[in-house]
Amino acid sequence: MQIVHFPHPALRFKSTPIIRIDNELRQIVREMFDLMYAAEGIGLAANQVGLPWRLFILNLTADPNEKEEEHVFINPEIIERKGTIEAEEGCLSLPKLYHPVRRSQEVVIEAYDLTGAGFEMTVDDLASRAVQHELDHLDGVLFIDRLSEFARREVASQVNDFETAFRQQQQTGIIPADTELEQQLRELVQRQS
Ligand code: ZN
Repeated sequence: MQIVHFPHPALRFKSTPIIRIDNELRQIVREMFDLMYAAEGIGLAANQVGLPWRLFILNLTADPNEKEEEHVFINPEIIERKGTIEAEEGCLSLPKLYHPVRRSQEVVIEAYDLTGAGFEMTVDDLASRAVQHELDHLDGVLFIDRLSEFARREVASQVNDFETAFRQQQQTGIIPADTELEQQLRELVQRQS
């Protein structure tokens, strides 16, 4: 398992609901936390590790010792939004690219945890931003998609560099072609249905 970078097709995949929470899934979540901490991130969506399922994790402290700050969101949905606020955002799939993004200030999110229990959480500030960013991932949406036309031009050359690097890795065979990656994603969808 590894964190995939833009423009990996997993990042454009509309993820499918999880219907089975088992030991395999718990192991996957553990590995996702390890990868997230290694990359010094605060959130990670399943499709960022090439898994097209509706699941993301958060630990806003980014500290692996703060286990009680670890949150797992399975089949999450935002059911309420209040206000808007703009602040800088980044993404482990677009490393070192940062730009302010306008988001809802406060959201109420519903999800299931790893025991299969449903929960509801009201979050604001960083938690609200992280939840919206990660939930976007599950719909194949990246934070750069949320930028204004003008802002998108500002980051265009950095985005282009990611594209070039990814295509080069495909040409040299380090990363499979898009068609093969898309086939892998479709097979993984079958495993949760
Ligand atoms: Zn991200």
